[in-house]
Amino acid sequence: MTTSQSNGQDSGSDQPKPGLNGRAYPITDHVYDVVVVGAGGAGLRATLGAAQAGLKTACVSKVFPTRSHTVAAQGGIAASLGNMGPDDWRWHMFDTVKGADWLGDQDAIEYLCRNAPEAVYELEHFGMPFSRTEDGEIYQRPFGGMSTEYGEGPPAQRTCAAADRTGHAMLHTLYGQSLSHSAEFYIEYFALDLIMDDEGACKGLMALNLEDGSIHRFQAHKVVLATGGYGRSYFSCTSAHTCTGDGNAMVLRAGLPLQDMEFVQFHPTGIYGAGVLITEGVRGEGGYLTNSEGERFMERYAPHAKDLASRDVVSRSMTIEIREGRGVGKEGDHIFLHLDHLDPNIINERLPGISESAKVFAGVDVTREPIPVIPTVHYNMGGIPTNFHGEVVTLKDGNPDHIVPGLMALGEAACVSVHGANRLGSNSLIDLVVFGRAAGLRCAETVEPGSSHHELTNGAGEEALDRLDRFRHAKGGTSTAQLRDRMQRAMQSNCAVFRTGEILGEGKDQIQDIWQDSDDISVTDRSLIWNSDLIETLEYDNLIIQSAVTVAAGLNREESRGAHAREDYPDRDDENWMKHTLSWADDAAKTVHMDYRPVHQYTMTNDIAYIQPKARVY
Ligand SMILES: Cc1cc2nc3c(=O)[nH]c(=O)nc-3n(C[C@H](O)[C@H](O)[C@H](O)COP(=O)(O)OP(=O)(O)OC[C@H]3O[C@@H](n4cnc5c(N)ncnc54)[C@H](O)[C@@H]3O)c2cc1C
Repeated sequence: MTTSQSNGQDSGSDQPKPGLNGRAYPITDHVYDVVVVGAGGAGLRATLGAAQAGLKTACVSKVFPTRSHTVAAQGGIAASLGNMGPDDWRWHMFDTVKGADWLGDQDAIEYLCRNAPEAVYELEHFGMPFSRTEDGEIYQRPFGGMSTEYGEGPPAQRTCAAADRTGHAMLHTLYGQSLSHSAEFYIEYFALDLIMDDEGACKGLMALNLEDGSIHRFQAHKVVLATGGYGRSYFSCTSAHTCTGDGNAMVLRAGLPLQDMEFVQFHPTGIYGAGVLITEGVRGEGGYLTNSEGERFMERYAPHAKDLASRDVVSRSMTIEIREGRGVGKEGDHIFLHLDHLDPNIINERLPGISESAKVFAGVDVTREPIPVIPTVHYNMGGIPTNFHGEVVTLKDGNPDHIVPGLMALGEAACVSVHGANRLGSNSLIDLVVFGRAAGLRCAETVEPGSSHHELTNGAGEEALDRLDRFRHAKGGTSTAQLRDRMQRAMQSNCAVFRTGEILGEGKDQIQDIWQDSDDISVTDRSLIWNSDLIETLEYDNLIIQSAVTVAAGLNREESRGAHAREDYPDRDDENWMKHTLSWADDAAKTVHMDYRPVHQYTMTNDIAYIQPKARVY
């Protein structure tokens, strides 16, 4: 695939200029109102919104848009349409607050849930091919943690689905829509770093064109980071190899904090060995888990919701079963997921993709045998702190909601925070489109189309090129693959489902060593064209800094909340810990430091009152 998928790509660019400060790289400058980094669901929806508002908008992506990880989302997108029974956005909000274990910001959660139906109808009108009910309405399935009547009623059927390929349908629909507007795409361009000014405002970013090795400097009134999660810090994860959290790492290098990085979601049902996801939709359609005694053990842990309790609860229950010797398989180290009791026609119609995955990755015919599964890293609740307009916020001079001028973040890269300590299944896809749309609207409100830019200072972008040069010419003795493997194993064994101070402390030391050892990294290919050695090294460098803040934040938080379960602090401690962690990292000194922001204990409007904390039982 070529890089120039743009319609009029060069309209914002000058001819290449000689390098900065005499450096070897010629620079091509581009000037836009808005530059979005990332072409997953979040990035595309924001690109579309900004372009619709008449803003000169570019979207930069390291992979072809429809290869973004959003394409792999299976189960669906949550919205209280009420097509399959009574529903209300307030019930969706209650479930999301409870799922988040009261770490979510309730103003943002209200924004998400009340705008969700409109965002789904918008996708429908864009042409997204949803599955349908007999009456022709959008089909909705039950998903974990989604209930009615503020948790008192039966499970809600709230998750809108296009069979088990919802993300695929959504991403193709959004890409088609954004092409029909005047957004310009820079495809297979790798964003290196942000350009920040002395006042702490974002002015643009630097990027490398992977195809021809040219360097591009983008200047924009708003840079929107929609670069996805960093699942690849771990050994077993469901996300794509490209999920290296590049935007998060750029934010850390810009001297800004990431929020709630200790909260990493494990999906209960990754295929044992391969990590490939089997959607929660399988349990929504009636699938269930068993241990080596053939027992449906979730009935013991969550008598009410059973196999559809929220993800952290199911993952932890599975891990307890395995640790107590009731795992299945030769090593007793996994669990079975059954669909063999379901009508094969239902499986064919509603879950065709997972039947194929089970066949290819586990050699299992789901109509006859159970699928071997194990909890696998699936989602990062933590990320770049933002408000519900998508504007990046930080703690500055005692103000916890200080807006960073010029910088926005969305999707899995961001921490709004609507998912708090634990995201409910199907709440990410809706987060992408609701806040992608919100960001487009915010850009329209705050940027005058075509308004002039301040001249960039002479060396703007210099530091990004220093870093590029450092890795491109790295002559150490350790390969990127070796360092990455050590990091992924340390995170998997010492920063996973079960956590104690001792395990996390050990993990922190290991990650610190690996971070230090990274100074000895070796890159063998010095070219700039399709240099996968160099790109993997830049991605590894992004991952290690995020691993460092993740394990440090885990050790720091002495309570159990949502996905963060400490055996040595088994209870949630609202008095001391109902607050967001902010983590800063110093890349040169290889240190992490932490502070906090309060959780927003208020809603956006008077249509719903603040939902008071209570024990989270399912
Ligand atoms: C297997 C799987 C199934 C899932 N199923 C569901 C589901 O059913 N329902 C649900 O709600 N959620 C689901 N999720 C979660 C959800 O899909 C993701 O959280 C969401 O798609 C992330 O979207 P995004 O737009 O933030 O980022 P992504 O889709 O990950 O896109 C990131 C974009 O950033 C670009 N990028 C990154 N770094 C750079 C860089 N340095 N330079 C240039 N571009 C860059 C990439 O090219 C890409 O375009 C699932 C996740 C997985 C892994």
